[in-house]
Amino acid sequence: MKKAIYTLAFIGALYSCKTTQTSKENQPVIASIDLVNVEEDKVSVSVDPDRFTTENTTFYIPKTVPGTYSTDNYGKFIENFKALDYDGNELEFKKIDDNSWNIPNAPNLDKVSYQVNDTYDIEDEEGVFSPSGTNIEAGENFMLNLHGFVGYFENKQEEPYRLQIKRPQGLIPGTALSKTVAASEDMSFKEDIYSLGRYFEVIDNPIMYAKPDTTSFMVEGMEVLINVYSPNKKYTSKSIKPGIEEMISAQKRFLGEVDNTGKYAILLYLSDSEKQDARGFGALEHHTSTVVVLPEAMQPEQLQKTMTDVVSHEFFHILTPLNVHSKEVHYFDYNDPKMSQHLWMYEGVTEYFANLFQINQELIEKQDFYDRISDKIKSAQQFDNTMPFTEMSQNILEDPYKDSYYNVYQKGALIGMALDIRLRELSDGEMGILDLMKALSQRYGMDKPFEDEELFDDIVELTYPEIRTFLETYVSGTTPIPYNEFFAKVGLEESETEINTGYFIKGQTPYIDGDPAKGDLFFRENIQFNSFLQELGVKGGDIIKTVNGEEYNIQNVYNLIMKAESWEEGEEVSFVVMRDGEEVELTATTAQPTDTDTTITEKDLPESSKEVKLRNAWLKG
Ligand SMILES: [Zn+2]
Repeated sequence: MKKAIYTLAFIGALYSCKTTQTSKENQPVIASIDLVNVEEDKVSVSVDPDRFTTENTTFYIPKTVPGTYSTDNYGKFIENFKALDYDGNELEFKKIDDNSWNIPNAPNLDKVSYQVNDTYDIEDEEGVFSPSGTNIEAGENFMLNLHGFVGYFENKQEEPYRLQIKRPQGLIPGTALSKTVAASEDMSFKEDIYSLGRYFEVIDNPIMYAKPDTTSFMVEGMEVLINVYSPNKKYTSKSIKPGIEEMISAQKRFLGEVDNTGKYAILLYLSDSEKQDARGFGALEHHTSTVVVLPEAMQPEQLQKTMTDVVSHEFFHILTPLNVHSKEVHYFDYNDPKMSQHLWMYEGVTEYFANLFQINQELIEKQDFYDRISDKIKSAQQFDNTMPFTEMSQNILEDPYKDSYYNVYQKGALIGMALDIRLRELSDGEMGILDLMKALSQRYGMDKPFEDEELFDDIVELTYPEIRTFLETYVSGTTPIPYNEFFAKVGLEESETEINTGYFIKGQTPYIDGDPAKGDLFFRENIQFNSFLQELGVKGGDIIKTVNGEEYNIQNVYNLIMKAESWEEGEEVSFVVMRDGEEVELTATTAQPTDTDTTITEKDLPESSKEVKLRNAWLKG
């Protein structure tokens, strides 16, 4: 594969810590992706390794990738697999399972080739979370989460890779990677070439190809790139930059001296609610970038708020797992993964920081912070409160543990909060969980994993003997966290009050739910509705057919929620619902909906009390 068909025009070779020089004796694995000749929504890929010395080999596409904590079988999206010899003849191979192909005659193997289908336009995306999924839309957008495109040969994961991506004129890559560019003689396409140190770096560096929409800014020596794909041109990278800049600047101030990336790329894919498109909203972390997928229909204010919550979470992953992780994470087996016990830290503490920094840096009010904690306590109630978090984490890919994954963002964050309060209490306000994480990241780091079994010992050594009791009781133990005891230490209490809600959502809990089998949207049963839904006369189990004449189902539920966000007070709205097999029309006038809720509030205590002092150290320390 060394035919020189292009005139090499080096537009500029930039350097980054991710670009690794390939040693002379080691020919890199060359992965070629063709984004120009897309056929039937499929992209052709070839992977060309150095000559094999083993008798046979197996080619793998990941079954799972770090950060997703789910089994996704990316090999399911591969078609037309071929093993080719040096004359271009097809060699025999045996497909072992969804993700692996055995090639018996390895010494004659030149390369493998195949076609890749994307996940975004498949119904339900076959369970793949969109920020780790793939998009192929010729001439318009390619979301290259590279684990969906590029595989690896047995025992060759640690070899360097050269990624060659042929792209049409008009599309540019959004990525934290540096590249060299070659152009075809007739300038009809270009080829981007990326050098990567090992297979992990390939999948740690997603690339989004789209029409140019990139903005960048500097924060204390770090360059932040924002790439936006907005199919209906509702948003641009410039329009979201101010919010992101404010947030990342606040994160850098909160973190102080810890992160070590010189460049960070935010790849935002906004999905079109009107057609089959990505529906798994959220983001996935990488060392120097994050892929974010959100609905384009979101209103600007809400998009900014969600970006703040989501991107700050991903950015805080720089601390953990990226710089503090166990061997299970470091030597990740993409096809037979062993999971670490410490999701409470990787995801929980990260999620806690994504909320704590906002109050610490005064991006939100104290009551907003307490309300978020309160929402997490309520969401955590849906899960088994006695399931040891370490056991759940270690078995997160299996039943019955995998259904508890969402709780890592709920109870996981609350573990972070309780540990933070306990550390502040023991240290007279001096030490919090951020100090602990910094100490751990100094002891370990990106290239130095810890032993899963030894993390608690390390934490105790860096903190207080009492912390062992905390960890063994609430993290690896079966005892639920007595939140009120922790709140009392910082002068907070839980009480019942009236709150404002959205038309369809209270805090983070929707009043509606969806039936994935039928696609129906219905009002939840056995719950109290807000004042608006009560006025409307909704009953639990009512299936929503239309709202103001527009039909709704699971596919466009976000449109409904977004439209409701923009309702002015005093508008007439009409619903058609299916109740006991009959259509019923319901009408009401819009007004700010209210509901009662348990909220966390500050006790009336003097500023000089030890509770208030501890609270100030906790939130402002
Ligand atoms: Zn996360």
